[in-house]
Amino acid sequence: MSFAKVLLVDDEVGFLNIMQKRLTGRDLEVLTAESGDDCLGVMSKNKDVDVVILDVKMPGMDGIEVLKALRRDHPLVEVIMLTGHATVETAIMGMKNGAFDYLMKPCDIDNLLNLVKSAKKKKADHEEKILQAQMKEITGRMI
Ligand SMILES: [Mg+2]
Repeated sequence: MSFAKVLLVDDEVGFLNIMQKRLTGRDLEVLTAESGDDCLGVMSKNKDVDVVILDVKMPGMDGIEVLKALRRDHPLVEVIMLTGHATVETAIMGMKNGAFDYLMKPCDIDNLLNLVKSAKKKKADHEEKILQAQMKEITGRMI
């Protein structure tokens, strides 16, 4: 049983494969995408993704562009940015654009797992609040 479904997005295929194996071994369900376009395509077919782990630096759409598209089209999904030393400022810009957090590459697997757990909890709490608001609305209409 996985505790969260994540989508790992990075243009380095070797990195994707290694991380997919390691995270799957730690009870995550892991989808992968090799570009921003690919990420948005996978998301449109998998509405139940909890957390996107997103490389900042990619050819084509970069991490910030992908983040903005995710916030617009999938507002409940949480995003963790992965960055190298050279792009920390971009990762911080990501935080200002609604990313849950960011992590430096090469990332420690336990740190990443802890962040995924926190992000998943935030999403679940958010969904619960929305459900309660909808219940209130329905019961309010019945009275
Ligand atoms: Mg990259």
